[in-house]
Amino acid sequence: MFDVNKIRSDFPILSRQVNGQSLVYFDNAATSQTPTQVIDVIIDYYTRLNSNIHRGVHKLSQEATEAYEAARKTIQQHFNALYAHEIILTAGTTEGINLIASGYTSLLNPGDELIISALEHHSNIVPWQMLCDRTGAQLKVIPMTAMGTLDMEVFDSLLNDKTRLVFVNHVSNALGTVNPIEEIIAKAHASGAEVLIDGAQACPHIKPDLQVLNADYYVTSAHKLCGPTGVGMLYGKEALLNKLPPYQGGGEMIATVTFEKTTYADLPHKFEAGTPNIAGGIAFGAALEYMNRVGFENIAAYEAQLLDYATNGLKNIPGLKIYGESPNKTAVISFNVEGIHPYDIGSILDQMGIAVRTGHHCAQPIMDFYEIPGTIRASFSFYNTFEEIDRLEAGIRRAVAMLQ
Ligand SMILES: *Cc1c(COP(=O)(O)O)cnc(C)c1O
Repeated sequence: MFDVNKIRSDFPILSRQVNGQSLVYFDNAATSQTPTQVIDVIIDYYTRLNSNIHRGVHKLSQEATEAYEAARKTIQQHFNALYAHEIILTAGTTEGINLIASGYTSLLNPGDELIISALEHHSNIVPWQMLCDRTGAQLKVIPMTAMGTLDMEVFDSLLNDKTRLVFVNHVSNALGTVNPIEEIIAKAHASGAEVLIDGAQACPHIKPDLQVLNADYYVTSAHKLCGPTGVGMLYGKEALLNKLPPYQGGGEMIATVTFEKTTYADLPHKFEAGTPNIAGGIAFGAALEYMNRVGFENIAAYEAQLLDYATNGLKNIPGLKIYGESPNKTAVISFNVEGIHPYDIGSILDQMGIAVRTGHHCAQPIMDFYEIPGTIRASFSFYNTFEEIDRLEAGIRRAVAMLQ
């Protein structure tokens, strides 16, 4: 069944020493670690296949193209998209959101309304503000509650016939809150709006079924789910992607080019200008295969135990306050200790070989809501252990004793 020691042996970095101690890696919400099975795919690509895809008649190019398109198919199957060409390979979540926001420039009119949530990562805020500046559309915000959940009654009141797009994250990276995206998607559709889901933080923990969810767009990054950095996917419904103009012009995205007129390639190539991160795309597929072998049900069950264990342990530390207490959350704990700056605790934990994140976690509006400069965030993965959480708790206690 689920053998964490066996899983840990797949991740070479986990046996590293940091500051003279064995590494405790609790910054999984920023990026996850990479198993040998994925590292080997990258090495194999540059050792055996390296060549440009979709272009050559020669053998290497054909094999590289096949591997890249097989990865797209793996991604399609993992997310249960209807067609492989609805999967656009991008540089990551940020690029996927910018691609959509850029595409809507010619589709919006002044007075159109867009709905965002108070729990968003900056990459799901700023591109939409830029879109509003270009088009005269207006941004409305679903507020958050003290528990770190969305105020869905206000959402209902924001929706109207001027609403064109709604964008929320599936899971908040700062607090771990799992948002009710099924309800958000259904209500937005009933009012004629389209929905983009930022799945960057959900996909390491949850296997979304895009046809059941009925999301119009869904974006994620490979590096949060055991894959490499600089690659990700944008899912879009075929009919919607066909309506959107291309994002970048260049090679690979065209059907014909003359100086009079250029016609664009079909999906997915219309949105994939230039030479992509080929090794990264192939490794993205391998990462999903690896995680599916571990099993998302096993991952969810084990991480829920880690979260419970850590929450109960940390709650006993005097003066420690946890931010984000949604009953439905992933294995993330954002916290502060009264009277101590998060950075000071983070630095002392680093001295002990414990990697956590401190700061606003690219979600400043959440910090403003709580009127704090930032938090310490410990985010867990299926390769973490209860002993590591014991070390975190002891480390925080020691840091607090040193700083008070
Ligand atoms: C990490 C993250 C992003 C940004 O992902 P990139 O890989 O940096 O583009 C966006 N949204 C959420 C919720 C995230 O966790």
